[in-house]
Amino acid sequence: MTLLASVVSSSRARLFACFLRLGSQQASPLQLHTGASLAAKSHYEVLVLGGGSGGISMAARMKRKVGAENVAIVEPSETHFYQPIWTLVGAGAKPLSSSGRPTANVIPSGVEWIKARVVDLNPDKNCIHTDDDKKISYKYLIIALGIQLDYEKIKGLPEGFAHPKIGSNYSVRTVEKTWKALQDFKEGNAIFTFPNTPVKCAGAPQKIMYLSEAYFRKTGKRPKANIIFNTSLGAIFGVKKYADALQKIIQERTLTVNYKQNLIEVRADKQEAVFENLDKPGETQVISYEMLHVTPPMSSPDVLKTSPVADAAGWVDVDKDTLQHKRYPNVFGIGDCTNLPTSKTAAAVAAQSGVLDRTISLIMKNQTPVKKYDGYTSCPLVTGYNRVILAEFNYNAEPLETFPFDQSKERLSMYLMKADMMPFLYWNLMLRGYWGGPAFLRKLFHLGKS
Ligand SMILES: Cc1cc2nc3c(=O)[nH]c(=O)nc-3n(C[C@H](O)[C@H](O)[C@H](O)COP(=O)(O)OP(=O)(O)OC[C@H]3O[C@@H](n4cnc5c(N)ncnc54)[C@H](O)[C@@H]3O)c2cc1C
Repeated sequence: MTLLASVVSSSRARLFACFLRLGSQQASPLQLHTGASLAAKSHYEVLVLGGGSGGISMAARMKRKVGAENVAIVEPSETHFYQPIWTLVGAGAKPLSSSGRPTANVIPSGVEWIKARVVDLNPDKNCIHTDDDKKISYKYLIIALGIQLDYEKIKGLPEGFAHPKIGSNYSVRTVEKTWKALQDFKEGNAIFTFPNTPVKCAGAPQKIMYLSEAYFRKTGKRPKANIIFNTSLGAIFGVKKYADALQKIIQERTLTVNYKQNLIEVRADKQEAVFENLDKPGETQVISYEMLHVTPPMSSPDVLKTSPVADAAGWVDVDKDTLQHKRYPNVFGIGDCTNLPTSKTAAAVAAQSGVLDRTISLIMKNQTPVKKYDGYTSCPLVTGYNRVILAEFNYNAEPLETFPFDQSKERLSMYLMKADMMPFLYWNLMLRGYWGGPAFLRKLFHLGKS
């Protein structure tokens, strides 16, 4: 019996929800965490919470500033995942193994790895507490705790993942189920969802739809597939230029998009999904599926929701230009856990890391931060097994394109960048604190243009 098949009781379901929530972070239980220190100090000049994309990148940059021995990262997971590749894993285009590396290998050498969960933040006393009852104090704090996956907010999940025909690219534990459901598809509805909450990589819920459509075409199943994107949003994408390009693809490939439809229940034993109509409270619709891809509701990590560093919605309350906390000047935030009003992506984290590096440098010298984050974020909209529309934009949802060609066109070159070039950049430059986004390339390619 598989682990999933054994998840039947509600308490087990809650435990499983916990695993899924940590989906991007949990490790193979067989790995030894050789990099974690057994005798960590109790005070650091720079303390980083979270060892994901933002945390590791910033630790590498801070190491160069204050010395490795003065930096520590609090991170419980033994495996670090490059999550953007899960879109391709779910479509069978990359193996899951290509997405993860031991955390010990990505922690900058000499930086302390405190292998624990943060359970409490006390910015008034410049300290945090961990789940193994340690108190750690700091001079500067960088919060990079990511976003939380709330599968259990959908009735019938996460235990529904024990059944076939359902998957989710958002968790390491369910991404391969998407690929299985795709392969098992015979005929009927293939449904893709988008929740009624902020999400990371807002393009990912529809990328897997385009890939699935391409897969059905390739395998001769397309005439028997009714492909439906049920989204809580009122538009296909937030930037007009790319939304127009996507609408064209949706029409050409006869995909059905239903707006303001929010998944509230999965009856996995009957292969039924229940949606609420956000425009008509109380109205629900039950749709049978042959394949269901779930994008879960997401929220700020629980440890932040009630902490003094959070805004009313639970996100780390930072200045949108400098990433410095609005009330605690020695506290900074980066990535998905912040209230920066931009799309939550690793590409955004890269650009933020360059700005935050400059901000902290100046704060350390008692100077005023000058470098401003423009909200740069990017979403490689995978529209097939060899096609990508590369959306890049700023806080104002204005395109901020790197390359000197129209990026709203589907291109093989952009697919190769997404599938091969970006992972290389991530592991070799970004996590080592040497990639602050493509702004310099943009300047280079657009030299001479006004
Ligand atoms: C399916 C999918 C597709 C995506 N596609 C793209 C894409 O094409 N392009 C792109 O740029 N981005 C993409 N992303 C988004 C990208 O992966 C995230 O935006 C990025 O990883 C955010 O970095 P972060 O540091 O904020 O959070 P994360 O990288 O998620 O790191 C958060 C870290 O905090 C740790 N943590 C959590 N709670 C605690 C605690 N209490 N104590 C200590 N540590 C804790 C976690 O273990 C984790 O390591 C995609 C994501 C997914 C899931």
